[in-house]
Amino acid sequence: MKTELFQCSECGMFYKDKSIAEKCRKWCAEHQSCNLEIIKHTVTKK
Ligand SMILES: [Zn+2]
Repeated sequence: MKTELFQCSECGMFYKDKSIAEKCRKWCAEHQSCNLEIIKHTVTKK
C-alpha cells in the first residue's frame, strides 16, 4: 500500500495529512520555528 506524504516546504518535514503539512508550512513561514503540536505528527520517511 502506497502512503502519500505531504512535505512542508519551509522545514522539509513530512506529514500524512495534507492539512497538517499546510498548517506547518504557514507556521514555519510566520514564526521561522517549529510548533511542537504540529511536529509530533511528523512522519519519518523510510
Ligand atoms: Zn514546517
